[in-house]
Amino acid sequence: MKSLVFLEHYHGALEKGGLGVLGKAASLGEAAGVVLGEGAADVASVAGAFGAAKVYVCDSPELSSPLPQPRVDALATLVGETSPDAVLFGASVLSADVASGLAARLDAGLNWDLTDLSVKDGDLVGTRPALGDSVIVDVGWKGSPKLGMIRSGALDPVESGGSAEVEPFEPTFSDFSTLATLVEQTQEESSGPSIEDADIIVAGGRGLGSPEGFTIIEELAAALGGAVGATRAVVDAGWYPYATQVGQTGKTVSPRLYIACGISGAIQHKVGMQGSGTIVAINKDPNAPIFDFCDIGVVGDLHQIVPKLTELVRSRG
Ligand SMILES: Cc1cc2nc3c(=O)[nH]c(=O)nc-3n(C[C@H](O)[C@H](O)[C@H](O)COP(=O)(O)OP(=O)(O)OC[C@H]3O[C@@H](n4cnc5c(N)ncnc54)[C@H](O)[C@@H]3O)c2cc1C
Repeated sequence: MKSLVFLEHYHGALEKGGLGVLGKAASLGEAAGVVLGEGAADVASVAGAFGAAKVYVCDSPELSSPLPQPRVDALATLVGETSPDAVLFGASVLSADVASGLAARLDAGLNWDLTDLSVKDGDLVGTRPALGDSVIVDVGWKGSPKLGMIRSGALDPVESGGSAEVEPFEPTFSDFSTLATLVEQTQEESSGPSIEDADIIVAGGRGLGSPEGFTIIEELAAALGGAVGATRAVVDAGWYPYATQVGQTGKTVSPRLYIACGISGAIQHKVGMQGSGTIVAINKDPNAPIFDFCDIGVVGDLHQIVPKLTELVRSRG
């Protein structure tokens, strides 16, 4: 199985999602990475330690903005030159655009929301939760190359210590691909780890009562060196940013510790955090569904429990 893995980079570092996919691809056969945009050559060699035998790089000016169409051109060029069996992506907003654009360009099949990959009888097989994650199904591809996008947080990067040959290439850009320009880019200010990278997540739900309720969640997360997560109910209500939403239509996370405060445990939230190491739930309703799948359940008022927990953590820090 010969795979090409799209690796995104940000602030001089390769993103965890792509590196996790790369490690899995390398365990199934020959894996190459592709890194595009400004600074690509500087970060590319790191991919060798995560399983890439080769990394293709291009930092043409057409790729300087994080826009999808020139990346579709670049990947289509590489597919033409290297004929991989599969082109794989870690899920992100950009890679979703690139993967779907590439599928259209190559008339290739794209399976997404995969949580694992394997090879059966020489063929690539994807694992995909379906029907609200209540069943797990195997999915395949009819054509070639096989395009696959892996759920964020599903595959952890594993450092294997190898090294990669870095090879520049020249994509053929289509006129229509470079018509869009990036007018403005802003960055949300945040401190502490992002929820995708955090080892500890303290998440808040409607039980917080108001947007101000997040203050005690932020304080506990800061004391633990963790990140803040949220349910869709509070994100939809405008209490907390969408980037922190955990669940079916948000992010899939798998921290070592997930503390759910005032969260009922709806299936759509559960599917985004059930892979966490230890799940602690604080809820005043002893019949809340979250108590059916948490590891430690605390029945009580979060407004009393969370600040005390923060104090305790600080006193031990
Ligand atoms: C297609 C679809 C996709 C969805 N995607 C997502 C998703 O990605 N992520 C997601 O989270 N949801 C998602 N949802 C919504 C999901 O179904 C639930 O509505 C949502 O998760 C509920 O959020 P919540 O737990 O914050 O609120 P609620 O269900 O209202 O629960 C609040 C909880 O707080 C408890 N509580 C209240 N006061 C206190 C207190 N003082 N102390 C302690 N506990 C208290 C209550 O007992 C209750 O259990 C989706 C729904 C649909 C239909």
